[in-house]
Amino acid sequence: MNQLSLPSLKTVVDEVFREAGAIDAGNVTTYIPELARVDPALFALSVCDASGAMIDCGDTRHSFTLQSISKVLGYACVLECFDDETIMRHVGVEPTGEDFDSIIKLDRHKRPFNPMVNAGAIAVTDLLLTRFGAEAAERSLDFFARLIGKEKLSVDEAVLASEQRTSERNRAIAHLLRNFKILENPVEDVLALYFRHCAVEVTTCDLARLGMTLANGGCPPGGGDPVLCPETLRKLLSVTLTCGMYNYAGQWVFEVGFPAKSGVSGGLLGIVPGRYGIGVFSPRVDEKGSSPRGVRVQKRLSAKLNLHMFAPD
Ligand code: GLN
Repeated sequence: MNQLSLPSLKTVVDEVFREAGAIDAGNVTTYIPELARVDPALFALSVCDASGAMIDCGDTRHSFTLQSISKVLGYACVLECFDDETIMRHVGVEPTGEDFDSIIKLDRHKRPFNPMVNAGAIAVTDLLLTRFGAEAAERSLDFFARLIGKEKLSVDEAVLASEQRTSERNRAIAHLLRNFKILENPVEDVLALYFRHCAVEVTTCDLARLGMTLANGGCPPGGGDPVLCPETLRKLLSVTLTCGMYNYAGQWVFEVGFPAKSGVSGGLLGIVPGRYGIGVFSPRVDEKGSSPRGVRVQKRLSAKLNLHMFAPD
């Protein structure tokens, strides 16, 4: 597949950024009160290629919390640590077609449908807690940092505390999971780790770099040893492709055609196998919890750069 020269890529990325900036649909997230304090006008886009070259537009220095994008990292960590049978006992790989925070409907095996919705991610977090015990937060954040290509990650403690205080819906989901014996650990311990993962701070450059690492056989852009094994990557990208955009997932594959994951803080990660990692941030999100600007950016980049995985060369 032919890779555009950097200046040509920059021209396309700049144009897509300018065009998407005209959209002001959606609202900042308010169910986590701290997220409502953000400036809704912020907008950033970063695209990273396999050499590590980064194209940045807008507020790329602004950091925001991963929120649901952390589900990709949590699932990656579990895939590296557990055998398939154990994982499959706790969480499946089928899209739900429902909202991310749907009060669970378990599948016929009595487990959450997939790890990209809250119920599944909470089940995944429980596995990490079982494996790492008191070191779970440190170990999982170190793992996330390796994937993102940073020494250390910071957590937005205000967002974390805000979600801890208000998230009765996730508490309800976790209690139901515990009732069905999917969670081994106490609900509050599992949620504390889950919320911590959601509150990890990143920039769009971090997302683009993470996306490129996942698009690049697990090798950091610009060179270096793989940070994930090929089997993990195959499973992770499959589930991210089919379930990453929740009740928008089918339409997403139809229109955009590469794995992506959104978060309610307005971040959107795009993974274009063999080609690019894309990070977008715009805090206004739609009723599905995805940023309309972010969605538009990924759609336009897919169309203009022929990024759909089934597009003819
Ligand atoms: N922390 C958020 C929650 O659990 C993440 C949801 C999201 O980004 N879609 O509700």
